[in-house]
Amino acid sequence: MMITVVVPCYNEEQALPYFIPEIQQVAKTLETQYQVDLEVLLVNDGSKDGTLSLMRTYAGQYQNVRYLSFSRNFGKEAAIYAGLEHAKGDYVAIMDADMQDPPALLPQMYEILRDEPYDSVATRRVDRAGEPPIRSFFARTFYKLINRISDADIVDGARDYRLMKRAMVDAILSMKEYNRFSKGIFGWVGFRTKWLPYENVQRVAGETKWSFWKLFLYSIEGIVAFSTAPLAMASVFGIITCLCAALALCFILVRTILFGDPVEGWPSMMCVMLFLGGIQLLSIGVIGQYLAKTYLETKHRPIYILQESSDGTKKDKGVQS
Ligand code: UDP
Ligand code: MG
Repeated sequence: MMITVVVPCYNEEQALPYFIPEIQQVAKTLETQYQVDLEVLLVNDGSKDGTLSLMRTYAGQYQNVRYLSFSRNFGKEAAIYAGLEHAKGDYVAIMDADMQDPPALLPQMYEILRDEPYDSVATRRVDRAGEPPIRSFFARTFYKLINRISDADIVDGARDYRLMKRAMVDAILSMKEYNRFSKGIFGWVGFRTKWLPYENVQRVAGETKWSFWKLFLYSIEGIVAFSTAPLAMASVFGIITCLCAALALCFILVRTILFGDPVEGWPSMMCVMLFLGGIQLLSIGVIGQYLAKTYLETKHRPIYILQESSDGTKKDKGVQS
């Protein structure tokens, strides 16, 4: 029985020296108490610091550490996909390198999958402590909205930290879309998931890669990827404005018949024009968003490009000797 831990890393040279000893500790626990092997699969997502050379060192130092390295930064979603694709374990975990996903939870997660009828164990933060209130507000609104307009079940506060059985991993890999919104994909494939709540942990070293603006764009991506409701919105706007126009027409007709037609109403006309112009631009923008995603999908570009991996270098060494 083997668990693969997939670790997406982008500029994590400061966090890895904390992470590796900790995960090796967990590996020992798993081996002695549960007779389970642990494989660590580090994915270097085009880091600009010394992350890759650290990975080479760890892969040489530990039997159970492998790594993949991208040709540039493709994003965490791509790193997760590559990791899942190369994972050899019967169970696969996804874990951040910064220890915000406590590695020590892993044995407990494994126990749940072994003893209870679940296919995956995922984690959820119970609090948003240490986060600006405005960000929490937008996050909550986003989760409410997307759950209403899409059929993927997306849990508020869900982290990417989870342990899955092979069947679920294969289901996720069968979704080959280029625009990958993992939180949606995990929910969309279904299966029985148990949620473990835990308190938010601060990252051990280095800094977060998420700004408010990036999160905002990410939320739009999530909506476009898992719902077509915004497209229908344009039609709804259209129907509402048509009704308003019909009412206004009746009103103006009656008024003209009763009171004549003095030249009046420039301000109201401007308002109507601006309002309609706004709605039209908004609707075109929404269609544009979907068109852009469709455009990218139809190119069938690879989700990531590998430049180097521990398997590759190990093979090369084999050829030389
Ligand atoms: N990460 C990645 N590619 C990126 C950005 C982030 O692989 O383009 C990794 C990062 O190294 C970390 C994990 O994704 O292991 C989560 O990133 P971060 O800690 O910045 O996000 P947060 O925990 O603040 O949500
Ligand atoms: Mg983090």
